[in-house]
Amino acid sequence: RKADIECRMLVLGAGPGGYTAAFRAADLGLDTVLVERYDSLGGVCLNVGCIPSKALLHAAAVVDEAAHASDYGIDFGKPKITLDKLRTYKEKVVGQLTKGLAGMAKQRKVRVVVGTGTFVSVNELEVAGADGKRTLVRFEQCIIAAGSQAVKLPMFPWDDPRVMDSTDALELAEVPKKLLVVGGGIIGLEMATVYRALGSQVTVVEFMDQLMPGADKDLVKPLADRLKKQGVAVHLKTKVVDAKAQKTGIAVTYEGDSAPEATLFDRVLVAVGRAPNGGKLDAAKAGVEVTDRGFVPVDRQMRTTAPHIFAIGDLVGQPMLAHKATHEGKLAAEVAAGEKKEWVARVIPSVAYTDPEIAWVGVTENEAREKGLKVGVGKFPWAASGRAIGIGRTEGFTKLVFDEATHRVIGGGIVGVHAGDLIAEVALAIEMGCEVADIGHTIHPHPTLSESVGMAAEVFDGTITDLY
Ligand code: FAD
Repeated sequence: RKADIECRMLVLGAGPGGYTAAFRAADLGLDTVLVERYDSLGGVCLNVGCIPSKALLHAAAVVDEAAHASDYGIDFGKPKITLDKLRTYKEKVVGQLTKGLAGMAKQRKVRVVVGTGTFVSVNELEVAGADGKRTLVRFEQCIIAAGSQAVKLPMFPWDDPRVMDSTDALELAEVPKKLLVVGGGIIGLEMATVYRALGSQVTVVEFMDQLMPGADKDLVKPLADRLKKQGVAVHLKTKVVDAKAQKTGIAVTYEGDSAPEATLFDRVLVAVGRAPNGGKLDAAKAGVEVTDRGFVPVDRQMRTTAPHIFAIGDLVGQPMLAHKATHEGKLAAEVAAGEKKEWVARVIPSVAYTDPEIAWVGVTENEAREKGLKVGVGKFPWAASGRAIGIGRTEGFTKLVFDEATHRVIGGGIVGVHAGDLIAEVALAIEMGCEVADIGHTIHPHPTLSESVGMAAEVFDGTITDLY
């Protein structure tokens, strides 16, 4: 069969990994086609992930800040929430970005083909449009960026609209009176933050023994304390065993030491992780190996088992984060264009945009302990930060983890407002092989929260160090 479209580079999936790869490939002179099943570019991140969630979290932060203002003599009263307008705001934010991407694709002469792609041979992909039209694209090289989707626990009645995944929750159909969030990870807690601020009574159940498994326990505590104060019920070591749709709500039963009684919820958000889309691409026809779980194994240049086909983003493994996907997208395109490069980044920061935010990068204290690494920890409590006191948010702290022998910074964690912005300095320090003294010697502007990073480099075990 004759191909409908021929190209040098085919990118499958237009999320942050895919659009970055396509744009970079085009900038490097490769004739590029971008295949995406949805009309709107941007993937999960722009359409139903990072961006809409942060727009709603901004609204939640305003509600909370307005309530807090009464502590310093400014009363805004009870917020009147017009859900339609909030939804429109969120959609406007998303639309601005996705339209921007469409413009950037056009500018670079990247041909966008809308439809679902499956491989038919080592250099052909068939794209099925919503109208039934089938387009055969022949490529010389390919970058697969098909991303991931929410895991749907089978015990939930998914045909009932009151049972939601994160995409449904971001639609903001209503503010339920009683919301159950299953999964106390980043996505579950961000959505819990939004719905609680909008007025829902929120219960969170988490299977592990702490919220946000992966982050150090001490970083999570200020968030757990605040959630408790705000009336969010958190049940750790708790497993949902059954959920049934009833007329008056979703009836949920649990197992575990601190499990709540069986309860009825107006809505349930299931946020227990994401699964890669690798199993749906007929990748074997292109010679691309896919694991049982749907991940596509790649080497340090993002090459799959087929040397002319690359894979990036959520599809290739943890952490499933947009900034990892974009970094990999750029790398894959550059390698495909002939540049001699490989993955050299040492660390990938993680951020939960909860209130307070939690951010960490590199080796955590837990990990250091588990691996038997000899580390020092510098910790600065925000209760001693003028800026944190001024904004009434002293619950945070900043810590640096460094190698005891070389003094090199190998990790860091921050909890507090804007922690996500602040962690970038620690990531840079690790990438540059900084010693902790380098951070201490850097003059940080006063009075800022960023000073806490400088101070953490000077305070070890509660005393000012003479390390340098
Ligand atoms: P995706 O964004 O998943 O894009 C894959 C694209 O491929 C999709 O558009 C899909 O439609 C398309 N596709 C798949 N299969 C086919 C096919 N066969 N044919 C055609 N098209 C196909 N990460 C952060 O870093 N920061 C955050 O704040 C953050 N917040 C999040 C909040 C939520 C609620 C969620 C769900 C995720 C969040 N993430 C966040 C994770 C982030 O969205 C992902 O890591 C990121 O989108 C991965 O990018 P990707 O390019 O690998 O894949």
